[in-house]
Amino acid sequence: MALKFKNTFTRTLEEFKPIDDNKVRMYTCGPTVYNFAHIGNFRAYMFEDLLRRYLKYKGYEVNQVMNLTDIDDKTIRDSQAEGVSLKEFTDKYIKAFFEDLDTLGIERAEQYPAATDHIPEMVDMIKKLLANDLAYEVDGNYYFKIQSFEPYGKLANLDMSGLKAGARVASDEYEKDSASDFALWKAWEEQDGDVFWETEIGKGRPGWHIECSAMSMKFLGNHFDIHTGGIDNMFPHHENEIAQSEGATGEKFVNYWLHCEYLIVEGRKMSKSMGNFYTLRQILEKDYPGVAVRYLLLATHYRQQLNFTFSGLDAARAALERYTDFISNLESYEGGDDSGGAATEAIDKAAAGFETALDDDLNISGALGVVFDYIRDINRLRAENKLSLSEKEKALELIKRFDSVLNLTYQTESGDLDAEVDDLIAQRTEARKNKDFARADEIRDQLTAMGIILEDTAQGVKWKRKL
Ligand code: AMP
Ligand code: ZN
Repeated sequence: MALKFKNTFTRTLEEFKPIDDNKVRMYTCGPTVYNFAHIGNFRAYMFEDLLRRYLKYKGYEVNQVMNLTDIDDKTIRDSQAEGVSLKEFTDKYIKAFFEDLDTLGIERAEQYPAATDHIPEMVDMIKKLLANDLAYEVDGNYYFKIQSFEPYGKLANLDMSGLKAGARVASDEYEKDSASDFALWKAWEEQDGDVFWETEIGKGRPGWHIECSAMSMKFLGNHFDIHTGGIDNMFPHHENEIAQSEGATGEKFVNYWLHCEYLIVEGRKMSKSMGNFYTLRQILEKDYPGVAVRYLLLATHYRQQLNFTFSGLDAARAALERYTDFISNLESYEGGDDSGGAATEAIDKAAAGFETALDDDLNISGALGVVFDYIRDINRLRAENKLSLSEKEKALELIKRFDSVLNLTYQTESGDLDAEVDDLIAQRTEARKNKDFARADEIRDQLTAMGIILEDTAQGVKWKRKL
């Protein structure tokens, strides 16, 4: 079956064909590390996690690069406000970012280059643009001349007719109607303090857009398969990346551009500047597990807005419980009659349905619909004891295969906890055998406080984590 993506560049659904056989090279714009990322940011990283996991499910080898923007107007401003060096300031948020990725079960990319480690590559690219007459200097600042790059505006569908020649914009972020020559390099100013590089093109620092052009091409080559980000990255960031990269090399930069829609709160984009944001940490403090946030961020199609509410998070937790209970009940099932072909039918139907849905531009809601129908069908057979052991194994195999994409069963706690729980359960069983019920109840309370739920079954005591 063919995998298709809606390519923002062409605005059509296109069959995905990598440049290089079954190898996929993709670049995903990463965080500006000046604060804890909010869950709107993680919506973008979650969509990219689904993308990379599904590509792997389809048998592709993925090489994903995500940059860390550790130098820009905001990192300089806030490190100075705190009175610490830029590096000390950004290191703290880089560390937090990786912790949050683990909490959300987001698989690591192959590379996480930091902008401050790639200044020479950025300077080289600016020199190429100067040589190609696509850049110019004003008082030590360098700008890209957008009117000299004929395809400028194609990605964001800009109307170029009203542009004023020579108008310039120095800040990294601006609206479509301010499209103008943008900064590639910013000359040092007093307010930058000790943040500067002495380079062949002068003393200063890079603009934001050149970071991604230089680092993506360093790690993935001049021309690669997929570039992603949130929809707000499309203009000006990605438009400018195309101009810089193609302007420097004369080659096509990227084949497929994929953008995810916003996570919104009460109808508005969740953003730091608006103040309507939750960091992942704030949600965890309300006693939601990371995996419930993962489910919530994952479950809406990436090109649809996702309205964040706590009732949505509760619903995510309930769905997750159904999913994990399904797996643990199936694991402890000890077999019954053969289903007479019903299990195989359910398995084949689900395997095909899951792939058909995700092949269609990562239609995750369709895929989850298939998964929960499958859970219902197999649960029914199991409850009626009409599932043989070999059918049970096949059913488990399939849900585990689905889980390589969905990743809803990971544990963030250490394995030590499992051992501790098993130990306490053994002590409780012993206490009960000795009719020391007070001690047994005490252990149960201790486990409850640890978020462990016990279930006494005919096969012995089973336990699960409270979601
Ligand atoms: P930033 O740290 O602001 O550069 O953003 C990092 C990533 O998060 C980018 O890919 C943005 O497009 C994305 N992003 C920011 N806010 C939201 C939001 N509310 N919903 C979805 N993606 C977002
Ligand atoms: Zn970028």
